[in-house]
Amino acid sequence: MDELIAGYRRFRSGTWPAERARFAALSRLGQRPRALVIACSDSRTDPQMVFDARPGELFVIRNVANIAPPYGPDDKPHGVSSAIEFAVRILRVRDIVVMGHAMCGGIQALLNGAPAEASDFVGPWVSIAAPARARAMAAPPDQRQSVCEHESVRLSLENLMTFPWIRDAVEAGHTTLHGCYFDIRSGVLECLGEDGIFRPIPD
Ligand SMILES: [Zn+2]
Repeated sequence: MDELIAGYRRFRSGTWPAERARFAALSRLGQRPRALVIACSDSRTDPQMVFDARPGELFVIRNVANIAPPYGPDDKPHGVSSAIEFAVRILRVRDIVVMGHAMCGGIQALLNGAPAEASDFVGPWVSIAAPARARAMAAPPDQRQSVCEHESVRLSLENLMTFPWIRDAVEAGHTTLHGCYFDIRSGVLECLGEDGIFRPIPD
């Protein structure tokens, strides 16, 4: 905890005074983030860092393997879908970005099974992305991890379109869906083109 407290003190002496006016406006007017980003909980793939975003700019959902589940309201609580609903129906974000990443432990669990000591929740959660696994299994073994990481982004984008109010917002031209992939080895971000292919963003 000492390192976290030290970080907080750096925030109080650096970021807080630098962003004070912005925080004042955000607390007076409320947040109006332009984008919802769905990313992995992995400590190496923070969207705020990758997109060099400032406070109030990104509404972020992070979970194991950056999965957007399909629309499926029932009598159980849904943490991810509730945050998606808030971003889309209340905040009316203009862009929704699903960001996958390299070396994803969640995707590894999807491909090879969750570790025994993390089987209570990780296995059932990543199984939402089983169709991405099925697509990846057609690839050579040494490429399956990377293929599955990319396919999981495509699948989450497909799942987002099963939410009726997201489909409506997209068809009305209010909201646009985007797929991205962050390679933590090179620091390069790829984006999914309209032709369905991921390409690196040039520096
Ligand atoms: Zn991950």
